[in-house]
Amino acid sequence: MTKLNWGIIGGGEGSQIGPAHRISASLDGHFHLAAGALDIDMEKGRAFARKLGIADDRAYGDWRAMLDGESGRDDRIDLVTVATPNATHYGITKAFLENGFHVLCEKPMTMTVEEAEEIVAVAETSGRICAVNYGYSGYSMVRHMRAMIARRDLGEVRLIKAEFAHGFHADAADADNPRVRWRYDPKQIGPSAQFSDCGIHALHMASFVAGQEAKTLSADFVSCIPSRVLEDDAMVNFRMDGGAVLRLWTSSVAVGRMHGLTLQVFGEKGGLRWEQEHPNQLYWTQVGGRTEIIERGAPDLSPEADRASRVTIGHAEGMPLAFANIYADLAEVIAAEKEGREPDPAATLFPTAKDGLRSMAAIRAAVESAQKDGAWTDARPVSMRG
Ligand code: NAD
Repeated sequence: MTKLNWGIIGGGEGSQIGPAHRISASLDGHFHLAAGALDIDMEKGRAFARKLGIADDRAYGDWRAMLDGESGRDDRIDLVTVATPNATHYGITKAFLENGFHVLCEKPMTMTVEEAEEIVAVAETSGRICAVNYGYSGYSMVRHMRAMIARRDLGEVRLIKAEFAHGFHADAADADNPRVRWRYDPKQIGPSAQFSDCGIHALHMASFVAGQEAKTLSADFVSCIPSRVLEDDAMVNFRMDGGAVLRLWTSSVAVGRMHGLTLQVFGEKGGLRWEQEHPNQLYWTQVGGRTEIIERGAPDLSPEADRASRVTIGHAEGMPLAFANIYADLAEVIAAEKEGREPDPAATLFPTAKDGLRSMAAIRAAVESAQKDGAWTDARPVSMRG
């Protein structure tokens, strides 16, 4: 496959998500880290870029300089990752798309539904990929869940239960710590905290595996720590457009829960259960039958699951490898375009700007619903209400 040039904005030294992107993008050898504007502090960013092996003239002080510099090069980057704080995603993603670059943007894609609509439009006009890093959809067994549901092993899907509940903001004495406080500050995070940070991952996962999108929702938000203006716990019920009911719980005060992302799907013929902290096993129970464990790497899995699996059965594959599957998909699609061939169809599952837009519409609807004591509210972007 053609070797591709990759750049990243944000993800500087000490950042939370930067290391996962660097490991994931480099894992399969498709991408070469060629350029970066890594830090809000220009000098720190340049120094870290050099440490990572980026050439001096491509170790940029800020993203505008990177856009200018890369636009003028014959060997310009083929993909840019936007891993900066939320409020900057829209401006950076839009500018790079408009200048002909493929983008992988961190979630949430934007701060508002209107910005998200614009990103979808710009991606369409430019013909460039705008992917959004709902990276947990890259797990092999999540893709197998999706394949099983699509081939109707479960029959009609009745219920989905999705949870993304951790306990790392439960300490009231720590609530004023600046590292925690900004996450509940509407000026920095928007009108929702926990649902917009973690809930949208769970919603994307549910939609991804079931092949159904949120239609209406009813939300209950609560701030367990009273000094917080925004919610640290949310329970949201959805009616999906394919007829399923989704019950979603997200929390940052669930003491004892770690990453806390789990997914269960119940259909007329059977049920599936997957837990992100044990991602290599998928539990499958047919009506009236015993529970079977489907292992990642086992024979006769779906092509989507096989494509997303690297080492042999029994060896754990975790989060950076799930993100690496998003990068591997993007590499395949971008390289196929450069080589003038069709991409592997199993490589086209990465989340896109349309998923980013759906999330922003769901956040707005959940905030409105919670303010009206859980009133049922249309969860779809206006442009997708048909
Ligand atoms: P962080 O605060 O740990 O790191 C942010 C990095 O971006 C820092 O290195 C900072 O210096 C740099 N930065 C800030 N503004 C910049 C700018 N204008 N130009 C260049 N660099 C800039 O944040 P984080 O936790 O790594 O989160 C970053 C993004 O990733 C957020 O949008 C967050 O929602 C998302 N995230 C996604 C996942 C996931 O599972 N997909 C997980 C964690 C975080």
